[in-house]
Amino acid sequence: MPLHIETPLLESRPLSHAAECSVWLKLEALQVPGSFKIRGIGAACEEYSRRGARRFVSSSGGNAGLAVAYAGRRLSTPVTVVVPETTSARARELLHQEEAEIVVHGASWHEANLLALSMIEEADAFLHPFDDPLLWYGHATMIDELARSAMTPDAVVLSVGGGGLLCGVIEGLRRNGLGQVPVIAVETAGAASFNRSLLAGHPVELDTISSIATSLGAKRVCERAFQWSAAHSIRSVVVSDCSALSACERFLADHRLLVEPACGASLSLAYDESAALAGFSRVLFIVCGGATATIDQIREWSASAAISQEAL
Ligand SMILES: *Cc1c(COP(=O)(O)O)cnc(C)c1O
Repeated sequence: MPLHIETPLLESRPLSHAAECSVWLKLEALQVPGSFKIRGIGAACEEYSRRGARRFVSSSGGNAGLAVAYAGRRLSTPVTVVVPETTSARARELLHQEEAEIVVHGASWHEANLLALSMIEEADAFLHPFDDPLLWYGHATMIDELARSAMTPDAVVLSVGGGGLLCGVIEGLRRNGLGQVPVIAVETAGAASFNRSLLAGHPVELDTISSIATSLGAKRVCERAFQWSAAHSIRSVVVSDCSALSACERFLADHRLLVEPACGASLSLAYDESAALAGFSRVLFIVCGGATATIDQIREWSASAAISQEAL
């Protein structure tokens, strides 16, 4: 039994109406730890466990850290998560519920990650949030499930942070004979490391992250994600924080599911009738989820995003 669940695949009337094409949703938001991350991280933790790991270490205060904490509890393996001081009370509470040891260190993820790496001992496994072939292998199971259904999309929309989800989905498409299906890769302005890399023709490291979609805030995408751009049809789209936030609110009203702005970024393509969807008739959206969002936080961000837009 894997640590992830098989998620529903359904056609959305409201999103199909908004996008003027048939929109299908893969509801990864329903995974127990709140996002698709458990697919890859669950597979990786099981493999590290087989190889003798006695502790899992993570430096993510977001969905990756939550997936590690959940996997550790399920596999009866202790988990240590090192998070920066900026990690929200909500995220800490969720990690605490999973019985992970939480170490708070440093002003940013960089310092927390350095401490986590320095803590690794002989029998520990370090779980990277996106750059590990075991993760991509596990993420690809969402496409195995798609392939077992009768639905074949003519494009897949997903969000890109460090590119682990992108690598997993492409691996899944290819291992199921769907290698011709293009992927639409969505980022928010201020966290668009993949888009910048494509424009530059090589992986680019962003100086700073200035988007509220923190789960997309990898300064640099993994090498494999960039390499795929030469071998698979990938279109890159950048949306505003405002669009991502308003998609979260609309999706909550339409499907009664609260997702993070990182996921709202993808959904905004349907709600905003993005030109990127033109020409496609059946589009699969990966509803990647997000456990740390609250409706209060989303409304607070929306209010300040509206103010900063007015100032432009
Ligand atoms: C991790 C995450 C992403 C980005 O995934 P990457 O593998 O880093 O590209 C997007 N949305 C949510 C909700 C996430 O947790």
